[in-house]
Amino acid sequence: MTITASVDDTIQQITEGASDGATCAPELAAGPWVFDLQPPSYGPGASMGDVIPTGSPRQGQLPAAYRDASGDELHRRIVAAKQTLGDRVVILGHFYQRDEVVQHADYIGDSFQLANAAKARTEAEAIVFCGVHFMAETADLLSGPEQAVILPNLAAGCSMADMADIDQVEEAWEALEALYGTEPDADGRVPVVPVTYMNSSAALKGFCGRHGGIVCTSSNAETVLRWAFERGQRVLFFPDQHLGRNTAKKLGVPLEHMPMWNPNRPLGGNQATDLEQAEVILWHGFCSVHKRFTVDQIDRARAQHPGVRVIVHPECPMAVVDAADEAGSTDYIQKAIAAAPDGTTFAIGTEINMVQRLAAQYPQHTIFCLDDVICPCSTMYRIHPGYLAWVLEGLVAGEVLNRITVSDDVAVPARLSLERMLAAKPPVAAGTQAG
Ligand code: SF4
Repeated sequence: MTITASVDDTIQQITEGASDGATCAPELAAGPWVFDLQPPSYGPGASMGDVIPTGSPRQGQLPAAYRDASGDELHRRIVAAKQTLGDRVVILGHFYQRDEVVQHADYIGDSFQLANAAKARTEAEAIVFCGVHFMAETADLLSGPEQAVILPNLAAGCSMADMADIDQVEEAWEALEALYGTEPDADGRVPVVPVTYMNSSAALKGFCGRHGGIVCTSSNAETVLRWAFERGQRVLFFPDQHLGRNTAKKLGVPLEHMPMWNPNRPLGGNQATDLEQAEVILWHGFCSVHKRFTVDQIDRARAQHPGVRVIVHPECPMAVVDAADEAGSTDYIQKAIAAAPDGTTFAIGTEINMVQRLAAQYPQHTIFCLDDVICPCSTMYRIHPGYLAWVLEGLVAGEVLNRITVSDDVAVPARLSLERMLAAKPPVAAGTQAG
């Protein structure tokens, strides 16, 4: 099965009644500027009416010249502006970004791959990050001081990252210090090591840097948790409970030693006695996109496609990861598909834009999304081509719009936690040599 229509085209068709498919929110067919001016929330496609925290950057109204332009016109303007800017600009497109935007990207990848790609393009004065807010912050942490990182739509946040804010994490830390103290045990292991997923604000990465903690990605979460257990008796893992639980379970941590921390309740909603035996304290956060995948969808895929290979992202709930054949990061999923023998059928549990792109890229396989309802990452989807054209034409005119900067007091410890991650090495497998 080869799918060529973009997710945006499909949503437009469903909304017009020209397709009998389903979308999680028909309002996605409207321009994001319709929602950007409303009280801050993530709008259509976001689960549980996710609310953007107070103090988050607000996107002003996109000028009418961009709101009213057709898709073809925006495409031409983006191409022309990019050509004029040449090497002065580099455009980064996340795997989950819509096709109409990602086709203009110089690099496509996950957030960390993209931030590293930006780092290598030292000649670029501007890095236009077509992803979400925390990704642009990471690019700013890793890029040169004279390079401007631009997020085309400031309303493109990440609902998961926003489920843990710095004040809540500081409060949780104080409560845990009061409970466990601050003294290391006889083996020199401190009471708690904070671990933050890459999908978090720079402030949380900075928090980890200041408190002996570390950052992880979905590719290296296992290595990072081992690193943390070498240095601490237990881990405070935020913001994604599912990645934390799935990884810790793989390392053999029993579920009853993984209490959840709800920041709105005293002691995170736990009894002090439950926290005594905790090995991984899981923050009450999740990804609105990956939470949608279910075991029923896997059962249905297996019934309809005998022999199907089911791969899901580790941000999916534990029951889904357990029921799948494999779980892995976007990079893992892509490599698994590339390495499979022709004619393999894949059911994939990750964001729809990436799955459809993989289906088009590997026509020798049958590749489909486990969830048959079209539901993109609605926050990343807010980078409409109109915003991309606007920031690029701004650069042509000498104006840097929507620059994302991380202040030094946050950036210095945040880089430290990233450096610790890069230095953390997986254990050498028996029979192999390090080299
Ligand atoms: S897919 Fe989920 S974790 Fe990724 S940016 Fe979107 S909301 Fe955030």
